[in-house]
Amino acid sequence: MTDPVHDVDALVIGAGAGGLCAAARLAHQGYRTLVVERLDQVGGRASTHDVDGFKVNNGAIVLELGGIMEQTFAEVGARYDVRMPSPPLMYRIGGKSVDITGGGWGFLLSKLTRQGAKLLNGLGAARQDSGLPDEQLSLADWVGRYTKSETVHGVFRNMCGSVFAVGSEELPARVFLTYFTRKSAFKKFGFAPDGTIGAMSTLADVVPLHGGEVWLSSQVRSLQVSDGLVTGAVVDRDGQAVDVSCRFVVSDIGPVATAELCPELPADYRAEMRERAKPCGMITVNFASRRPLLEAPGLTSFGKTRRLCYVANFTATCPEMAPPGWHLYAGAGVPKPSVGDFDTDAETELILADLHDEVPGFADARVLSVAVMRDEWPPQRAVSGFDLPSQTPIPNLWNVGDAVKEYGNGGTTACAETAKLVVDQLTQRYPAPART
Ligand SMILES: Cc1cc2nc3c(=O)[nH]c(=O)nc-3n(C[C@H](O)[C@H](O)[C@H](O)COP(=O)(O)OP(=O)(O)OC[C@H]3O[C@@H](n4cnc5c(N)ncnc54)[C@H](O)[C@@H]3O)c2cc1C
Repeated sequence: MTDPVHDVDALVIGAGAGGLCAAARLAHQGYRTLVVERLDQVGGRASTHDVDGFKVNNGAIVLELGGIMEQTFAEVGARYDVRMPSPPLMYRIGGKSVDITGGGWGFLLSKLTRQGAKLLNGLGAARQDSGLPDEQLSLADWVGRYTKSETVHGVFRNMCGSVFAVGSEELPARVFLTYFTRKSAFKKFGFAPDGTIGAMSTLADVVPLHGGEVWLSSQVRSLQVSDGLVTGAVVDRDGQAVDVSCRFVVSDIGPVATAELCPELPADYRAEMRERAKPCGMITVNFASRRPLLEAPGLTSFGKTRRLCYVANFTATCPEMAPPGWHLYAGAGVPKPSVGDFDTDAETELILADLHDEVPGFADARVLSVAVMRDEWPPQRAVSGFDLPSQTPIPNLWNVGDAVKEYGNGGTTACAETAKLVVDQLTQRYPAPART
């Protein structure tokens, strides 16, 4: 007989943003929920490590305000401690800082190109379905219809890299335009004062509040299937193989890895997931300085750069992220190509060269770490527009996270959205047990 302690309603594999949003929602709705996480802390690619007293994020650095992530926190009764810098975003173009607050894209584009008005009309036209280009046209080619300005192309490439973690030549224009005209589009965002792990931990804490558990340093080894349904899993925990039985499984590890846990999934489905998965790459340089290096208190983005998409200034808004007297920054860029193989050393050098050019005083800064995110630990498991299905051929096995995003969405916001959609499906099919 199964140990009753390990008999749950919902098994969630992975404590990344998608897994935690799903787990918190399920636990809050009365499902006995177990989250199993391989690492010794929550957050996955939205987490934070301590480096000599600096709170260094390992992936996501900004969280959206006013979108589905904040809504998830509100629905499960958790505090969303995310501070918005003012202004959240500035551009540094030609060595000068440009604040686009109030004027937005119109203001920026009109300053950069005589074709700004036409480009804005193109953006405006995309609000109608008939104004959206077909899937084959890349964002770079779409911008090229309006202008040759390298600065404008740079602005779009860097925006694209910041949101979708690919270059503008690798993203369909349709995805970008859908995002900016139909999604919440990170209009407001901020930093979590304890690093991104702070927000993710708050979400994880919802699970035990409702009788569930989060097992860290534990790994799901295999899923058990009987009569076409998942009935449980074998979990490595404290050196022991532990049997867990469940009514359904939500996996946050991407459809390819999920399929590896479950050989009963049809071979053609498994092959299709491997074939369609398109993880991309990103390189982040975390650095600190005793004197402030950037004017902008939030994100600084750029016009033409080699690779650098943005620099985040954490401590202007969240001084607790660094030891007293220090300023903490992260500069991130997407390599070329951002999908498939790239030369890590050469691409890192290009980002460092950009940081030297764009951040006065970078030469004297202390580089805390250089993080190369790719392959099994990418910035996005699927390029937006090429996402995989959240549903699997097994009716009670579902995926959440950034491999299964809705069309034209990105980052942790997209993960939170997948969690809501999947939980809505599961709660309809498997009603919550009556509360005693
Ligand atoms: C450099 C960088 C910058 C980014 N910036 C932003 C940003 O500013 N804002 C934003 O919103 N997004 C950003 N993103 C994207 C964001 O980080 C990701 O989209 C998001 O964190 C992905 O979450 P996820 O739910 O898909 O899963 P993951 O974070 O991948 O979590 C999956 C978890 O499952 C665990 N796991 C794997 N296998 C097993 C197993 N067998 N058993 C148990 N556990 C297992 C893993 O350890 C992991 O913790 C950035 C990403 C990168 C890399």
